Amino acid sequence: MASPDTAHGTRDALSVLHRVFGYESFRGEQQRIIDHLVEGGDALVLMPTGGGKSLCYQIPALVREGTGVVISPLIALMQDQVDALRVLGVRAGFLNSTQDPEQRREVETALLAGELDLLYLAPERLRLESTARLLDRAAISLFAIDEAHCVSQWGHDFRPDYLALSELHERWPDVPRIALTATATKATHAEISTRLNLEQARHFVASFDRPNIQYRIVAKREPRKQLLELLRGEHAGESGIVYCLSRASVEKTAQFLVDNGIEALPYHAGLDAATRAANQARFLREDGLVVVATIAFGMGIDKPDVRFVAHLDLPKSVEGYYQETGRAGRDGLPSTAWLAYGLQDVVQQRKMIDTSEGDSAHKRRLATHLDAMLALCETVQCRRVQLLAYFGQSGEPCGNCDTCLSPPQSWDGTIPAQKLLSAVYRLLNERRQKFGAGQVIDILLGKETEKIRQHRHDQLSVFGIGTELSDGEWRGVVRQLLAQGLLAVEGDYGTLVLTEASGDVLGRRREVMLRREPERPAKAAKPAKR
Ligand code: ADP
Ligand code: ZN
Repeated sequence: MASPDTAHGTRDALSVLHRVFGYESFRGEQQRIIDHLVEGGDALVLMPTGGGKSLCYQIPALVREGTGVVISPLIALMQDQVDALRVLGVRAGFLNSTQDPEQRREVETALLAGELDLLYLAPERLRLESTARLLDRAAISLFAIDEAHCVSQWGHDFRPDYLALSELHERWPDVPRIALTATATKATHAEISTRLNLEQARHFVASFDRPNIQYRIVAKREPRKQLLELLRGEHAGESGIVYCLSRASVEKTAQFLVDNGIEALPYHAGLDAATRAANQARFLREDGLVVVATIAFGMGIDKPDVRFVAHLDLPKSVEGYYQETGRAGRDGLPSTAWLAYGLQDVVQQRKMIDTSEGDSAHKRRLATHLDAMLALCETVQCRRVQLLAYFGQSGEPCGNCDTCLSPPQSWDGTIPAQKLLSAVYRLLNERRQKFGAGQVIDILLGKETEKIRQHRHDQLSVFGIGTELSDGEWRGVVRQLLAQGLLAVEGDYGTLVLTEASGDVLGRRREVMLRREPERPAKAAKPAKR
């Protein structure tokens, strides 16, 4: 049982790990973090998803006198978390807005009677003075701030209620605090540290490398067909998650998979709560199910044997990509993170940023996030190296990602870039016209289409000057110029316009290096254990 045996010693961390959780040994930094907290120190923990953050506060809460208070934004998961702990004999409860007054009173009584090891608390509850007074009357062993990146206004998951957590230390100066997150660029790390008053705390930064995940980013052609190939060829009968940007494409993709004999369930915020809960429960319980979802799915999902995470649309940031792909392979066995990415993704996301609410600083932030994601897509170096570098960590080429397995070549694309930019320039300046990538490419290829004739584009001097590349290759050029900021899109139809930097290419002051897609995309995961 997790309740106090005797004094210290018999309830040391390792024996709690064995007796309560049934695990052999600590992983990574767990032991050092737990010891530090048990001794009353504050900690800031950066550990990737699946790294084992929960034990870092659950065990100290069991070892120290009093109740450990866990602040978590994942209200929907609290009941599950508490149930799972109770099965292990841990005395756990939660307080959030889903409860009726009677249920809340029961938990409060247990807390005051010293009968709780762990109390999960929604951040908005902690802001209530009544909750603070309740905690004043209880014996608190520690505060754990889960998903601590929610305090970051720079990040993708900001929760205003988290800002108030900076006051924990003022009100309860003797209670140790531990903040935990799996999202950790240097900027987020620094922001968590200042906003939560954790400058004096010990910082534990685990490696973000997930060696058993094979990262692959492929050119999007027929995304659903490509996905089907991946599932049939490499992950038949295995559990996985497919992420799509919109609810409509979630529905369509799930139906497409079902039509093709794959058991797939949709998950998005447009479904009613009961269907969502049922689909999530089936995914956790059954083997070999595929969930097709928007990013609403997965926060806090702990299913160890997710064998693949596929993205049919470009994630908005590297943090998001890392977190979503991180749901694969928590059991340490080989898993695939697969992303199909194309020109349309860039067009669409740039447009979403343009039309997003918020001031220009906010839009700049979104654009910076997108640029980093695009750089990861277009890199010619190891994906893992690039990913780790984004999180401020270094690594060696992994030998297991797509770029390691079939290295893309970079080629001098200066002349094609000049041709393309010059076509856009002529349309803008000679004709006062804006067109999307399709028409511009048709012009370069010298295609005699109806639309070409109608606009007399066959009379432009750039008509037919680009026959050395195929339609697909030109789309790759456009995509990469967009990614490099040498070209931009505008308006509802994704029309192409020039940027300041375009002038440098047109004026021959700048070379353009492009990535050539490998002939045959990398396949078949090599076994890699951690
Ligand atoms: P995180 O919150 O960092 O994503 P969790 O705390 O949910 O990760 O842990 C991920 C999984 O690893 C869980 O199934 C957990 O029980 C397991 N785990 C954590 N620590 C250990 C350990 N020392 N030994 C064995 N399994 C562990
Ligand atoms: Zn690699």
